[in-house]
Amino acid sequence: PQSKLPSLGTTIFTQMSALAQQHNAINLSQGFPDFDGPRYLQQRLAYHVSQGANQYAPMTGVAALREAIADKTAELYRHRPDATAEITITAGATEALYAAITALVRLGDEVICFDPSYDSYVPAVTLSGGVMKRLTLQPPAFRVDWQAFRQLLSPRTRLVILNTPHNPSATVWQQSDFAALWQAIADEEIYVLSDEVYEHICFTDDGHHSVLAHAQLRERAIAVSSFGKTYHMTGWKVGYCVAPAALSAEIRKVHQYLTFAVNTPAQLALADMLRAEPEHYRDLPAFYRTRRDSFVQALSRSRFEILPCEGTYFLLADYSAISDLDDVSFCCWLTEEVGVAAIPLSVFCADAFPHRLIRLCFAKQETTLLAAAERLCQI
Ligand code: PMP
Ligand code: GLN
Repeated sequence: PQSKLPSLGTTIFTQMSALAQQHNAINLSQGFPDFDGPRYLQQRLAYHVSQGANQYAPMTGVAALREAIADKTAELYRHRPDATAEITITAGATEALYAAITALVRLGDEVICFDPSYDSYVPAVTLSGGVMKRLTLQPPAFRVDWQAFRQLLSPRTRLVILNTPHNPSATVWQQSDFAALWQAIADEEIYVLSDEVYEHICFTDDGHHSVLAHAQLRERAIAVSSFGKTYHMTGWKVGYCVAPAALSAEIRKVHQYLTFAVNTPAQLALADMLRAEPEHYRDLPAFYRTRRDSFVQALSRSRFEILPCEGTYFLLADYSAISDLDDVSFCCWLTEEVGVAAIPLSVFCADAFPHRLIRLCFAKQETTLLAAAERLCQI
């Protein structure tokens, strides 16, 4: 058949994880922990299964989970979304992103995103008939040039997609970025899709800034998060989006025919977890900071230059001192010959991205990180 996505292949995450397995390499490519999530959460899942919570959940999500999310949002971002009308539970953040883009983007609409950008945004926009306008951020700071952003705006601009803490650059948006975004779009009917799946993995002094904390922007915004990152269980695939009632209603029209509803016992278990152990997400920055710092320390003897990491569980490493290969070839070589799998950055960019940067996932046990660092120090 004629492809609707002719230039798209299999995701880099699937490719690199497969290559890592094939060569028995330490897999620091695809982002997932090699340790388990909280025992309590697992026990609650088993409990709810044993109690017969095994039929369809409500289309918008289990009420107890939506209520718990509303309370957490109020505590962290000083805004309590309406649990009935404004919060929708989805099959991971991926589904929330897809449903939001499908609900909002019409044929010919323009969508702005910031490169390097997470790989699920662009195909969703393309399938909706939208046109991407991609602004490339430059290392090492990856900050948005707001003048350049304004030049991308047009009467057809419909949506801006942002991600903070940012995968793959590991930078975070400051409050001034949200202020600049609002200034640029205040007078237009432009929506904002804010991917905040790493909201609890942020190392800056003032912490994560959510679009939900911005009184004007949140009237036009969809905030997306995922329990996979927060609870070390990426395989559960439960996420959610928060958006004003009118926007949520449109997103739900898509969600109800994309998945209809999400795994019932997992939602109940997550609601219990949010209520019983809020210290889990409060302690997460310290938990990951320890891993980040010991990995950076172990790599200090290597010839990689490590970039600052403000958030996410990814670290960027510049290999200019080691090789002239392009980043994709370097990642293949690193996996096959050195035994460490990483992700090249250029695959997240539309324009040429001639930097020698790779992304390493540090959501790993200390022993895994030290073993990987030992190999990386030998090249
Ligand atoms: N957005 C970003 C920036 C991500 O890194 C990820 C997970 N890798 C997702 C969305 C998707 O999250 P989920 O696994 O919950 O679908
Ligand atoms: N988000 C994860 C990453 O950035 C991967 C998710 C996936 O494999 N689709 O590595």
